[in-house]
Amino acid sequence: MYQNLFDSHTHSDNSHDGHASISMLCEAATTKGLAGIAITDHCECDDPKLNMLNRFAPLQFEILKAQAAFRDQIMVCCGIELGQAIYNQELADKLLDTYKFDFVLASLHNSPGDVDLCHIDFADKDVPKILEEYYSNMLKLAQWNKFDCLAHITYPLRYIQGIQKIEVNMKPYDEMIYEILKTVAQNGKSIEINTSTIRQGLGTTMPGLDYIKLFRQLGGEHVTVGSDAHYAKDVGAHLDVGMDMLKEAGFEYYTVYRRREPKLLKIL
Ligand SMILES: [Zn+2]
Ligand SMILES: [Zn+2]
Repeated sequence: MYQNLFDSHTHSDNSHDGHASISMLCEAATTKGLAGIAITDHCECDDPKLNMLNRFAPLQFEILKAQAAFRDQIMVCCGIELGQAIYNQELADKLLDTYKFDFVLASLHNSPGDVDLCHIDFADKDVPKILEEYYSNMLKLAQWNKFDCLAHITYPLRYIQGIQKIEVNMKPYDEMIYEILKTVAQNGKSIEINTSTIRQGLGTTMPGLDYIKLFRQLGGEHVTVGSDAHYAKDVGAHLDVGMDMLKEAGFEYYTVYRRREPKLLKIL
């Protein structure tokens, strides 16, 4: 049992796919004995219906209220999961200029102009082509660099392998993933261990241990750990597995963010 656990990836009902209020997430984090939680609701930069540019102010206010209400129990951080920032950089820049965040998680859920990978039936699709495009866009996202942490870098595996049970050979993307991890490491940014896929059928985290080890070999110092909870019951889920992996990869600390500055927490 680890002390000092912090869930850096959670969604409230301000996300289109979230099912718990911010205070319910904080309450769950408190009950589970976490040291803190980052609320990272979705802003899909390439989708006018799902971008937060004009909708984040009330959410921020709600997070501030939760920070005050839970002040003596847990740290509550104001984060965002910025999806597809490179497909609409103008909007992403504007959002980052307009609001003050503790933590900016950058993610990639789809190809330009296409639906989220979660909605694709891969049985009759050219999976290698989709993955090739996915990782070339992720490299551009890593180079964009206006985030704190690159989220769930093996996101396609959640659906292709974890849910639709189609085996994926990641070898052809090794070079691109190497470049992505090197870029993030050299920029002093984080990657994430996302534990949601342990409860969603993939049986391992996003990414798995190999890429965490490679990130460390490439000089990466910062890794955040998050459950990607969309329900209060999932807050903090399997963060201990993330800690086990970090230790196995040689890390003694993991990272959380406050006012967009990395803070190292000892793995205890
Ligand atoms: Zn995501
Ligand atoms: Zn998420």
